[in-house]
Amino acid sequence: MTCTKCKNPAVFLTPRYCKNHFIEYFEGKVLDTIRRYRLIKEEDRIVVAASGGKDSTACLHILSKHYKVTALAIDEGIRGYRAKTLADLKRFCRSRRIKLHIVSCKKELGKTLDSIATKGKSSCSLCGAMRRHLLNIHAKRLGATVIATGHNMDDEAQSIMMNFFKNNLAMSARLGPVSGLSQARGFVRRVKPLYHCSEKESYVYNHLAGLGTGFNECPYTNDSFRNSVRGIINEWEKIMPGAKKNIIRNFLKMVPKLRKIHQAGHPRACAVCGEPCAEKICIVCKIVTKRHA
Ligand code: SF4
Repeated sequence: MTCTKCKNPAVFLTPRYCKNHFIEYFEGKVLDTIRRYRLIKEEDRIVVAASGGKDSTACLHILSKHYKVTALAIDEGIRGYRAKTLADLKRFCRSRRIKLHIVSCKKELGKTLDSIATKGKSSCSLCGAMRRHLLNIHAKRLGATVIATGHNMDDEAQSIMMNFFKNNLAMSARLGPVSGLSQARGFVRRVKPLYHCSEKESYVYNHLAGLGTGFNECPYTNDSFRNSVRGIINEWEKIMPGAKKNIIRNFLKMVPKLRKIHQAGHPRACAVCGEPCAEKICIVCKIVTKRHA
């Protein structure tokens, strides 16, 4: 089978492209997403939230070709996993001369994810909360005006459906290509350039562009609710190709209304650390003082 744009062998089926045209397609989609949602302005100082995984490395790679970027990684303290992905990231940044900052949860918060995770319970929400908290603080210290993350279309579809299942539309109001408490003081805008790229496309792009990210699976992945939802959505996609795209399309139509309803009030500052949060004390301060459930 040949590429629909040239006579070279196709390496991807939908769309049917050869290596070079697939790379061009993927990068074009990322740049188009940045333009369409105005994710990055000319005057922005960009930090890329990097982990050494395929999505954030693809994001870092593409953005570094067009913008001046700094990589910021959080070491949550996950034994047998994070050290390997950070080694990949260090190698990647060194080869591209990208400045990399690594922040340790142990040093900053006095806790690692391993020390607070409970077997069988989802640790991903604790992990995500610590990571977002430290990313925001350190992006500000680096003078960043925007944090680009590697979230892809599959991640977003999963988050949307998880919030539906949990009856938590307030959380969905913070999703979208520009995410989080974007109106809050002290909050660095978070953007998702890979918003319309699927997990599969990102995987293939990493391989074809030679980004050198290995396959590493976090030991907590199987405990997570996200993992179950991922399986369900993948089944839907098999039965109805395009299901993931349709979740995203319909969500984007709903999100302005959700934001009106759920972000009408002023976001607060955490009474302990001063970081923006939705409640009186942020989840990370609760974790640090063992007040999380
Ligand atoms: Fe953190 Fe969960 Fe991702 Fe592991 S799978 S890095 S615990 S969010």
